[in-house]
Amino acid sequence: MRFHIITLFPESFTSYTEASIVARAIKEKKISIAYYNPRDFVTGKHKKVWPDGNISRIVDDRPFGGGPGMVMRAEPVLKACDKALAVIAKKKGKAKIIFFSPSGKSFNTIYAKQTAKKYTDIILICGRYEGVDARVAKILKADHVSIGDYVLTGGELPAMIVLDCLARQIPGVLGKFESLEEERVSSSEIYTRPEILEYKGKKYKTPKVLLSGDHKKIEEWKQSKN
Ligand code: SAH
Repeated sequence: MRFHIITLFPESFTSYTEASIVARAIKEKKISIAYYNPRDFVTGKHKKVWPDGNISRIVDDRPFGGGPGMVMRAEPVLKACDKALAVIAKKKGKAKIIFFSPSGKSFNTIYAKQTAKKYTDIILICGRYEGVDARVAKILKADHVSIGDYVLTGGELPAMIVLDCLARQIPGVLGKFESLEEERVSSSEIYTRPEILEYKGKKYKTPKVLLSGDHKKIEEWKQSKN
């Protein structure tokens, strides 16, 4: 699976993608990540070369109808997406486009599973400021996706969440010790050694059933904790 991330801040991804399972998935070519910065696609009057040689590339503008904050302009975002779509077309991939928005439909396991099954390429559009001009999602027929009922400062964390969740649906991304939780009876209450934990003068025991070796009882206990 190939991820194509449209973001003004590609550098904000690396600490996550360079660690643990996601890093291994990239190394083993189970997934790949490409970044497209709308700022690199700014042309015309929005690109200004200063006498000292510095270049400003303006990606945002004031909202029509007023209101605080700035809006990411459609054109550079669409051009960045076009670039991603051209890469995907060359590889004969099947693309799903996700437009992050706090009022989109909630991201969940069912959506992740269906998306991972149907598509080879995922384009993730990360908004900043007040968000991206609404015409981008309309033109691209993108899914409006929210990762929860709260507002973040940008779509980069949502993109990492979606990437992480989709990646673990891909066969071979999780090792045998980390098999898909959704496919087995798992519990939110888990324990490891020591059997009895001593902390600040108190003893905290592991539930007996987990030490019993009785798999049927253990499964029942796990289910009761969900
Ligand atoms: N003014 C917008 C909020 C913009 S937040 C509104 O009220 O709807 C800026 C960007 O952060 C959004 O464009 C989106 O890409 C991202 N974002 C913030 N919260 C999010 C959430 N809960 N789920 C998905 N994306 C979110």
